[in-house]
Amino acid sequence: MKPRTEEKVSATNNTFDICVIGGGATGAGCALDAQLRGLSTILLDAGDFASAASSASTKLVHGGVRYLEQAIKGFNLEEYRMVKNALRERLYMLANAPHLAHPAHFLVPVYSWPRAAYYLIGMKLYDAVAAESNLFPSRFLSRKETLESLPGLKTQGLCGAVCYSDGQFDDARYDLALIETFVAAGGTALNYARVTEFLRNDAGMLSAASVRDEISGELFSVSVNKFVNATGTGADKIRALANPMLAPRMRPSKGVHLLFPAETFAAADALLVPHTEDGRVIFAVPWQGRLLVGTTDDEVTPATRMVVTKEEAEYLLRQLNPYLETPLRREQALSGMAGLRPLVAAAEGRTATSKLIRDHEVELDSSSGLISILGGKWTTHRLMAEDTIDAVQREMGGSVTPSRTTQYALAGADGYDKSFSKEIEKEYSLPADVARHLAGKFGTRALEILELLHENPSWNQRITTGLPAIEAEIVFCIRYEMAEAIEDLLARRTGSQFYGWKEAIEAAPRVAELLAQEKQWEAGRTATAVSEYTTKIHAFLNELGLDQG
Ligand SMILES: Cc1cc2nc3c(=O)[nH]c(=O)nc-3n(C[C@H](O)[C@H](O)[C@H](O)COP(=O)(O)OP(=O)(O)OC[C@H]3O[C@@H](n4cnc5c(N)ncnc54)[C@H](O)[C@@H]3O)c2cc1C
Repeated sequence: MKPRTEEKVSATNNTFDICVIGGGATGAGCALDAQLRGLSTILLDAGDFASAASSASTKLVHGGVRYLEQAIKGFNLEEYRMVKNALRERLYMLANAPHLAHPAHFLVPVYSWPRAAYYLIGMKLYDAVAAESNLFPSRFLSRKETLESLPGLKTQGLCGAVCYSDGQFDDARYDLALIETFVAAGGTALNYARVTEFLRNDAGMLSAASVRDEISGELFSVSVNKFVNATGTGADKIRALANPMLAPRMRPSKGVHLLFPAETFAAADALLVPHTEDGRVIFAVPWQGRLLVGTTDDEVTPATRMVVTKEEAEYLLRQLNPYLETPLRREQALSGMAGLRPLVAAAEGRTATSKLIRDHEVELDSSSGLISILGGKWTTHRLMAEDTIDAVQREMGGSVTPSRTTQYALAGADGYDKSFSKEIEKEYSLPADVARHLAGKFGTRALEILELLHENPSWNQRITTGLPAIEAEIVFCIRYEMAEAIEDLLARRTGSQFYGWKEAIEAAPRVAELLAQEKQWEAGRTATAVSEYTTKIHAFLNELGLDQG
């Protein structure tokens, strides 16, 4: 990516074919698709890229076994189609960024033979729906095989497990890779740029947006032919700015995750908890050296905050612990995250959010020209983008050109294979965990990070003991990935905050120093930035009932 100041100049000096509002999975996908079709595109996000739902997911590239069950039980063709599409998209997502996404085994433990038969039939159906997109066939694992994969599982009454395939990915980095690929294709991207108002032409159609720079407070305007609203749970606000007569459509639902030390539940594969007190599904997934446990699905109220509450944590543990030999305790949590699913209501009904279909809808408001992409999920972001840009091209009156994104290597994927981590470990004399981390987060772009060591060899230092992130990586993300704040670096660019709050707090002062050096911050700003960051984490810990002061 180019520096933010340069992108801002480009934003104000050009008239774009398309402005995509929102830099989460959906917006990043739309921007890339549009730019690759030759449409000059600008992408704006009010905060940091991927700072909302798109970095708070369960990190599964999946059709959704629960959604298939719902589709079959409810004879719901729409939901069936959504699962089928997602299973096909799963392959594209894995292939386009192999450093960020990989196939994984998921085990459903069974404690009775009728249940074993039920789950095996269910997973065979999942395979059948995937058809040629299947990753590998599901099968029944004996009790012995199950305990080899999940030694921490409760043994009493265990018959075995049904093992099926899905994908796992790094959501925040996948979003950034989409945006980097978009910028490399000639697009303009700007974070901390909030659309606050629309301007219209004589026919009343949207022709420009008033944008607030959330860092400097300045206002500027962006001239555009067509606007795409990809703001997730914020979609109704943008729709109302474009046309106050539009009825709200979004039904956000909150979901939380906690991360535990990997040793708390010895697991080589992921565990799906099939039976919970309210019929939802919970996962316990090995993820980047931790155990990721989630998720919840709760209606949003005015009191909802983006934290994991003590009650939410207790709910997760109550569902998971009956399956573990050694129960997990809330106090063992090392990190956590909360996010809002951008679910879209079908009509006036008040269906529970957990029952709303995770499908997407492209909406055209003919009186303003706004095109909104509503709903969907991470796994289907590419298809959502394709449908949206098809609609944009139809509205622009020209021909609809084919999307190019099904097979398009994302930034870092070119030349990447499984041996890459070992190669850089050897060539740059890196500790194995640092090499794995750089390869897994940046793919072959890790080489650009390592090049920075020629400028300053001391940047090979870890940002704090216990984390694999190094200083060169921080400098790279400030210079080339538009990181503006400590959280941008620790949460989304390096993933350090999700590895551990403690380590993130320890790393914050050094990260702030590097930000200050690179961005010539005025005196005093470093201390304020560290204090704001640590206060936010302590507030999170406090909600979880874990803050020790
Ligand atoms: C707990 C949880 C678990 C999930 N697990 C999975 C999973 O395992 N697999 C899967 O496929 N999907 C999963 N999902 C769904 C998936 O994460 C979301 O569907 C997806 O991330 C939504 O992306 P988005 O871009 O639409 O929205 P968001 O990521 O929310 O992005 C919207 C962006 O719009 C920006 N914005 C808002 N207003 C403005 C404005 N005025 N101007 C400029 N920008 C603005 C925001 O800053 C934000 O960055 C999960 C979701 C949650 C919450």
